[in-house]
Amino acid sequence: MTKVDVLGVGFDNYTQTEFMALFAQRLAQQQGTFVVTANPEIVMAARDDAEFQGYLAQADFITADGIGVVKGAQILGTPLKERVTGFDLFMALLTLANQQHYRVYLIGAQADVIQQAQKRLRADFPNIELVGCRNGYFTDTAAVQADIIAAAPQMVFAGLGAKKQERFLVELKQSLPAAYLMGIGGSFDVFSG
Ligand code: UDP
Repeated sequence: MTKVDVLGVGFDNYTQTEFMALFAQRLAQQQGTFVVTANPEIVMAARDDAEFQGYLAQADFITADGIGVVKGAQILGTPLKERVTGFDLFMALLTLANQQHYRVYLIGAQADVIQQAQKRLRADFPNIELVGCRNGYFTDTAAVQADIIAAAPQMVFAGLGAKKQERFLVELKQSLPAAYLMGIGGSFDVFSG
């Protein structure tokens, strides 16, 4: 069984290594992939939020980003293989992007944070083609999305906080049908520090 239901959210039951093998293959085949890394707060928030549930329904994969989700699945008698966090996946995907020279777009966090994240990415993953990088505080969402679409990234990482980043990526999805899209919460804050 690959799907495990925890309080209405269907988690994909793969290890991080298994997820990465799938993502690498899908990227190579230009198969669009929208990934949500869901922690217990997201599971609880989605329970009485139909809008959020709609975004989760559009995810190609949902990972268990929190030990609470893994424990919950175990208690329900349908254990998940392991916790797969947004930050760990982000690092693994940057490693893959570096190997494959992928075009990457980063969006989210405060201006100084994303600036630092950009610096670190350039230093640690020099073969990534960084096609765009901007902070997560903007008002003209349509203009920001148009900029991302024009940059034609193969991967977009959005750190705008839960729900906001999922809404943003769902809106982007139709215009970037071959891209890997993932919300990463506060990962830029960690990566820049
Ligand atoms: N963030 C953003 N734009 C916003 C709100 C938040 O870029 O309008 C960023 C914030 O700077 C942080 C990240 O989103 O880097 C995660 O924020 P938070 O911890 O509030 O969200 P969570 O992932 O815990 O829901």
